[in-house]
Amino acid sequence: MKYLIWAVVIYLAWRWYTVSRQSSSGSASSTDSTPAASNAGTDDVAEAMVKCAQCGIHLPSSEAVHGAGAITFCSEEHRRLHSER
Ligand SMILES: [Zn+2]
Repeated sequence: MKYLIWAVVIYLAWRWYTVSRQSSSGSASSTDSTPAASNAGTDDVAEAMVKCAQCGIHLPSSEAVHGAGAITFCSEEHRRLHSER
């Protein structure tokens, strides 16, 4: 009977070890499957993301400031800074 108790204890410890290891490594590797925290408040995931030519930040196309051609910026200030270079 004592062996049965030990078997349960070892089984539970092994289960806890594998689950905790899976959750810690899983969150690190599957960052692309989970929605990004930076995408707060926006349900429109289908919207195209553009990159600021000045600082390299990604932002929705509707919020971007469009410069000459296909160049996009995160703000009017960065559009000005980029054109001054
Ligand atoms: Zn920028």
